[in-house]
Amino acid sequence: SNIPKIVILGAGYGGILTAQRLQKELNYNEADVTLVNRHDYHYITTHLHMPAAGTDTIDHARVPISKLIDEFKIDLVKSAVKDIRPHEKKVILEDGTLSYDILVVSLGGEPETFGIPGMKDHAMTIRSINSVRLIREHIEYQFACYKNDSIASRLRFVVGGAGFSGVEFVSELADRLPLLCKEFDVDPEKVELYNVEAAPTPLPGFDKELVEYAMDVLKNKGIILRIGVPIKECFAGGVIIGDGERIEASTVVWTGGIRGNKLIENAGFEVTRGRVKVDEYLRAPGYDHIYIIGDSSLVLNKEGRPYPPTAQIAMQQGVNCAKNIALSIRGKQLSKFTFSHKGTVASLGKGEAIAIVNGKKWKGWKAAQLKKAVDIRYLYVIGGIPLVLQKGRFF
Ligand code: FAD
Repeated sequence: SNIPKIVILGAGYGGILTAQRLQKELNYNEADVTLVNRHDYHYITTHLHMPAAGTDTIDHARVPISKLIDEFKIDLVKSAVKDIRPHEKKVILEDGTLSYDILVVSLGGEPETFGIPGMKDHAMTIRSINSVRLIREHIEYQFACYKNDSIASRLRFVVGGAGFSGVEFVSELADRLPLLCKEFDVDPEKVELYNVEAAPTPLPGFDKELVEYAMDVLKNKGIILRIGVPIKECFAGGVIIGDGERIEASTVVWTGGIRGNKLIENAGFEVTRGRVKVDEYLRAPGYDHIYIIGDSSLVLNKEGRPYPPTAQIAMQQGVNCAKNIALSIRGKQLSKFTFSHKGTVASLGKGEAIAIVNGKKWKGWKAAQLKKAVDIRYLYVIGGIPLVLQKGRFF
């Protein structure tokens, strides 16, 4: 048939929003839509720091994709993408090949380790449900081992990076460690939690006053802050920082950076740190039928600086991308993407957060409530009230 084939790669924030909007926007028989994802669930990445630290269950951070998509309208393919071939208009999956007329690449990003020796091999990262399971089990296992071998480094934890995800995770972990001490009969005085950041200040780009507030919260939780100190090397049993200080730690979690998905670079697109600078309609330069959105795309603000990769921008891109696909199928002029920044909220563990919404600053308990409201709003956007009731955290 001559119905255009639309293939969406990745069912994260960008991919799910694109699929849902296409499903709403397109009429019957206007296009064939296929959504490819490695797992049969969508994960709520912005929530992963909690199950990683063990302060919430994994099931609060994921939703079966079949609950979010109308499978009468969209074909779901559970498979891993291995290769994108823009010249052949094909995508190679681990177990087959898909051809497309219009492609949406929303595969998310990958950890960027900036070439720090050993980081890729020895640090864990918070990227997926599976990586989070590993962190959580690893941490509990260290406590169990310590009770048998008394090796001090088992009780030392290093979080590399004090950007948003680093600060959110280290706060959450600081809440969890005392509970683990109780569970495993370990003296809390023996536990050390480091947060190491190379930049001169944590939470880059965030309001100064709120950053100071956050640092006080972290210090009060007993976190050892090393700000302006780079990690020089990561090895199997810890890290070397600054001028050669060695921290022996069995647990190193790296949150220091995000780059674009390797598949995009491998496909031959021009990239900066693995990310493609898309045109004003979110298309890859030179390809009017390939859209790249989310953590693998690069959109510049008015000052010519890239917006940081967030769920917020990925969602808005998904909406715009679906709209443009429908417009292009109907032979109409595409609509330009503009990012509308709704605000930023960073959680600092139980009952604590910092936030800027519409230029107004919030901190403490109220900001923590805002964080919950943002989470609940997202569940509502993708799954309506049933999903809010099922997965929402109200307390
Ligand atoms: P993702 O949501 O990562 O989705 C990518 C999808 O593609 C996944 O489903 C994955 O399984 C799939 N996939 C990947 N590779 C393949 C493959 N080869 N084959 C098949 N499928 C594949 N942003 C905010 O705006 N606010 C926050 O509060 C916030 N907090 C965060 C906290 C943490 C701990 C982390 C790690 C990130 C946080 N972010 C936050 C950032 C946000 O999560 C990302 O920017 C967002 O997830 C990007 O969306 P995406 O659609 O590009 O990719």
